[in-house]
Amino acid sequence: MKLLENKTSLITGAARGIGRSMALMFADEGSNVIFTDLKESDNSRSLLDELHAKGVRADFLAADASDTDRAMEVAAWVTKEYGRIDALVNNAGITRDNLLLRMSASDWNAVIETNLRSVFNYTKAFAPLMLKQRSGSIINISSIVGMIGNSGQANYAAAKAGIVGFTRSMTKELGSRGIRCNAIAPGFIETPMTKQLGEDARNYWVQQIPMRRVGTDVDVARVALFLASDLAEYVSGQVIACDGGLML
Ligand code: NAD
Repeated sequence: MKLLENKTSLITGAARGIGRSMALMFADEGSNVIFTDLKESDNSRSLLDELHAKGVRADFLAADASDTDRAMEVAAWVTKEYGRIDALVNNAGITRDNLLLRMSASDWNAVIETNLRSVFNYTKAFAPLMLKQRSGSIINISSIVGMIGNSGQANYAAAKAGIVGFTRSMTKELGSRGIRCNAIAPGFIETPMTKQLGEDARNYWVQQIPMRRVGTDVDVARVALFLASDLAEYVSGQVIACDGGLML
């Protein structure tokens, strides 16, 4: 029996990076997968093909995760087409790094809207379906930066810390109806998002990481798989770091 047999999952911002890896791993474990991203692209088309090749039902929806009305439309569509949602992964995220004195209000807003408001949007949109089912696993992708801060990432750290408070509040609001809510706090994970930081930054971080390697999208996807599955049946309100020990 596969870990996510007969389950349906939705992952936001999954055309590439960590979200893509989660989509593929969830499908390998038997889950139907709906994934979103800003717009249709070669990445989204190839992921959809790969998911179909695994024999599960899969769909891509173009949706800006920061758009509240679009989140409601996505949830209505999934409710009509799939009739249920077992795992919701709030993964979409961006960075707009700068030191505070150089950070524009628009860079602040863009990061809060995409990384934090999106979590509110999709949790609120899918909560009615999960409440009706009396089950569901909500997985929010935070960051160790939300816990320890990072120079040049005040906007990102604030959004990722906000996700932790939101996650714990949802645990308390929705727990009695069988809905679990957890966060993952990745450390330095090699994806297109971190590629833009360059070799020097990568080498610096490797020296800080007790395991002396950067993480991969697969490392994070495995934690998400655990939280989405019934193996985590009694796990809620947690922030699980996936960082090779970096935060210690
Ligand atoms: P990535 O940039 O490789 O992928 C992010 C995806 O989200 C892209 O496909 C992008 O198009 C999509 N996206 C961006 N804005 C969106 C929006 N408004 N609506 C819908 N989709 C949108 O990034 P990644 O490294 O895979 O990061 C995934 C998540 O993990 C993010 O929340 C990120 O903050 C978090 N994270 C990443 C790292 C890391 O080291 N890579 C560390 C900690 C946390």
